[in-house]
Amino acid sequence: MIGLFGGTFDPVHHGHLRVALDVVEHLNLSQLRLLPLAAAVHRRQPIASPAQRLAMLQTAIRDEPLLIADDRELTRGGPSYTLDTLRAFRDEFGATVPLCLLVGADAFEGLPDWHRPLDILERAHLIVMQRPGAPTARDAWLREQVEQRRTDDPTALRGQAAGHIYFQTVTQLDISATRIRRLLAQGMSPRYLLPDAVLAMAREHSCYAVQQASA
Ligand code: ATP
Repeated sequence: MIGLFGGTFDPVHHGHLRVALDVVEHLNLSQLRLLPLAAAVHRRQPIASPAQRLAMLQTAIRDEPLLIADDRELTRGGPSYTLDTLRAFRDEFGATVPLCLLVGADAFEGLPDWHRPLDILERAHLIVMQRPGAPTARDAWLREQVEQRRTDDPTALRGQAAGHIYFQTVTQLDISATRIRRLLAQGMSPRYLLPDAVLAMAREHSCYAVQQASA
């Protein structure tokens, strides 16, 4: 069973890395692909270049063999639609391997606005990473999908290639890339929010030296 975790990773930090490992171990994934997006569909564009974000990600996970940096969205270029990525994985790994798409609880609430959300649910299981407590969905369509597809049994995910929704409680670390970029731009230290080697790369290449208006 393969996990997919997309993000801006601008830069990757301990929030991403810890929840990635939580899910790998809890679901006993054979591997988790971390996919930096090329161009965002629903948010502002990344600050660091694709090559810099990929290099920082590779550095962060180099000692963790089950975490793999996957550059297919960067190589494809253009807006990074999750559906295109899932199609590429299906082409590569076949129709029967269970694929688990990791999304944060906030991102999950926005699923109805994604490009062809039903097609996404038909090509992967959704693993919703959340705080402890009952899951809620404000959108009526999403609530209906949860009612139809939810499983609380991780072994059920292995029984079919796609289509379940599974809620996974993960370690809560109040870390965001936005804060890390802001600290760097202000000349302050974001140390211990992200791996030292990633911080060293960000500083060496002055990835976030200038404060962004929207940050
Ligand atoms: P930014 O601050 O630039 O918006 P970010 O820190 O939220 O970035 P992203 O690369 O946009 O990082 O996030 C990719 C995925 O990782 C999203 O699904 C997001 O919900 C999740 N994520 C980000 N930070 C954390 C965290 N501290 N704990 C758990 N999940 C996180």
